[in-house]
Amino acid sequence: MSDLNTAMIEQYRSNFLREVEANVEEGQWVKMCMQCGVCAGSCPLGNAWEHPPQEIFMMIRAGKREEVLGSESMWMCTSCYNCIARCPRGLPITHIMHGLAHYAKRLGLVPKNQPTQKFAQMFWENLTKKGRVNELKLGISLYFMDGFGQGVKNAMANQKLGMNMLKAKRMSVSEAWGGHKVKDLSGFQKVIAKAQQLEDERIAKNSK
Ligand code: SF4
Ligand code: SF4
Repeated sequence: MSDLNTAMIEQYRSNFLREVEANVEEGQWVKMCMQCGVCAGSCPLGNAWEHPPQEIFMMIRAGKREEVLGSESMWMCTSCYNCIARCPRGLPITHIMHGLAHYAKRLGLVPKNQPTQKFAQMFWENLTKKGRVNELKLGISLYFMDGFGQGVKNAMANQKLGMNMLKAKRMSVSEAWGGHKVKDLSGFQKVIAKAQQLEDERIAKNSK
C-alpha cells in the first residue's frame, strides 16, 4: 500500500465522501446526486461498466472506498458528455469520473495493467516531450505495450491502417528521428512544470 494511501485512510477514516470532496476534481458535487439513473441510462458504454456513474456516487456515499478506487469503471469514460447534458442536477459527471481515476492513480490503486491508464500515461509522456504528439512513436508504443510478440501481431493486424495513415500524411516515418515540436519548446516545458508545481501544492494543501 502506498504511503499516501495509508495517510489518506488515516486522515479520512470512515468518511470516504469527505475524502472525495477534498481530493477529487469536482468531488464536492457527489452529494447532489439524487440517484435518478439518467446518467447510467445515457452512457453509451454503460452496459460495459462494472459500476455506472450513478452507482459509483451511491458507493462513495456508502463509504465503499476500495471498491470505488480499485474499480476499472471510471477508466471507461470516453468524455462524450451525454451524462452532463442530461443530469437534472447538473453534476459534472465526466470530470468527476476523470478526477476519481486520477486520484486512484495517485494512491497507487489502479488495477494492474489497466489499459486506459497505460495509454493515458504513454500519451502524456509522448505529448509533453515536444508539445506535439508524435503519432508514429505513439502508435509503436501502443502496439508493443503488452510485449514484443503481441506488438508484432498488432502491427501485422493493422498494417493496412498504418499504410493508409502514411499515404494520407497523417503519419510520417521521419517522426522516428525526432518529429515535429512546438515553436517555443522551453516555454511550453515551463508551463507544464508550473502547472505541475501548482497541482503538487494543491494536493499538499488538501492532504494536511
Ligand atoms: S443523472 Fe445526475 S442526479 Fe441522476 S443519477 Fe446521474 S448523477 Fe445522479
Ligand atoms: S462522459 Fe463518460 S460517464 Fe458520461 S456518458 Fe460519456 S462515457 Fe458515460
